[in-house]
Amino acid sequence: MHKIDIDLVDMTMDVMKYVIDRLSNTKHKIGKPKKEEELKALVGETITENGIGGEEAFKLWKKHLTTSNVPIDHPRHLAFVPASPTRAAVMFDLVTSASSIHGAYWMEGAGGIFCENEAMRWIVSLTGLPEGAFGVFTSGGTAANLSAIVTAREYWRSLNERNTVEKGLIITSIGAHSSIKAMAKVADIDVLLVDTEDRLEKESLQKTIGSLPTQQRQRLFAIVATGGTTNAGIVDDLEGVAEVCKKEKLWFHVDAAYGGGALVADSVRYLFKGIEEADSITIDPHKWMFSPYDCGAVIYKKPELAKEAHSQQGSYLDIFKDEGAHGFNPTDYQIQLTRRVRGLPLWFSLATHGTIRYREAVERGIELAQIAGRMIEESPHLELVRAPSLSCVLYRRLGWKPEDYTHWTYENHEKGFALVTPTKWKVGSAYETVSRFCFINPDTTEDDIKAILDSMN
Ligand SMILES: *Cc1c(COP(=O)(O)O)cnc(C)c1O
Repeated sequence: MHKIDIDLVDMTMDVMKYVIDRLSNTKHKIGKPKKEEELKALVGETITENGIGGEEAFKLWKKHLTTSNVPIDHPRHLAFVPASPTRAAVMFDLVTSASSIHGAYWMEGAGGIFCENEAMRWIVSLTGLPEGAFGVFTSGGTAANLSAIVTAREYWRSLNERNTVEKGLIITSIGAHSSIKAMAKVADIDVLLVDTEDRLEKESLQKTIGSLPTQQRQRLFAIVATGGTTNAGIVDDLEGVAEVCKKEKLWFHVDAAYGGGALVADSVRYLFKGIEEADSITIDPHKWMFSPYDCGAVIYKKPELAKEAHSQQGSYLDIFKDEGAHGFNPTDYQIQLTRRVRGLPLWFSLATHGTIRYREAVERGIELAQIAGRMIEESPHLELVRAPSLSCVLYRRLGWKPEDYTHWTYENHEKGFALVTPTKWKVGSAYETVSRFCFINPDTTEDDIKAILDSMN
């Protein structure tokens, strides 16, 4: 099973060519899911005692299964937070898999981890965090947020005997990503939400903390601000939140999973002022740093605190910590032990293209949001809900009910034309259903945007 089969090598080359060709063919349709029964009827039994053979399996994949996926990097995929991995990164993702590197410990993965760390140094430099700050690549923003929150909680517990028996509490806003609440549940931490989908400001945060009963105030250990909300691209008042955290002695976490890529963009960098005061930051290279899935990152001002929270102990692991195995062990700074060196494709792409190209590609996403905003303002039947922020645009089609948005989404998806999904925006106490764009792919064109908006006529 593990012998070299020269046909298999040829087939791998074919697969690579096929994948790269798909990426460069902008005429391809957006795929759409079929029902499981339909897929089963098309491909039949694939797991059998003797196997169906690689050629047959790949044929089925190409013919029936790949078209049932939605390519996240399609130029007219503007839903959720799309992705747009560079060809160089995609290529090196294959190399990463083929290299069988265990990315937990330097002793086994030194070459790969070295490259990851080079890429990480660049990301850390974008944040402006002080000397000594560093991070590791995770499976995504969710795992990064969990790793950071647990680090913060363990640090808080180390400060005071009483904290070791208390349930911790964090404050964030309703604009924060769902993973903050989900991961707080995993870590058994309470979450208090400041009721604003708009910018979380210093004053409202200070007021919320001030109104906490003593018992709750004692349990409060961290504030989570968002550096680019997933829904609307809003960057919280990071400078103000940092001041409050300093004054109240609270951990300051910035979730910039989506928006973190914009740290490289001169046109919006000022919005992130204050991020350099953070104790921890989440950034997803698989969102706006053009990495393939899955690649998140968690960065700490004081990585040694993460090590205290996450370093795993076991007699079989002792050798990795020995002087002789000297080096940086990524496993010590987040929740995962065995891991692929998922920062490696990013390193190769950065090394290939240089950081200026990254800046240009991110700026293009921001520019596309501005262009879409102008088109919407010029259209009599469309209206901006708010000015575009980072690369997110919220807009309404005058006269449409929620079901009209849903119907329009399905219709465009059915045709293989575009994927643009509705969202909700909170006005006062009511939620309005609206349409939303999120631009990541620099190859999205003005014509793509115009065609999508025209389909709302
Ligand atoms: C996408 C996102 C996350 C979750 O990241 P995953 O990589 O999907 O786990 C967390 N926070 C924000 C702000 C996000 O946009």
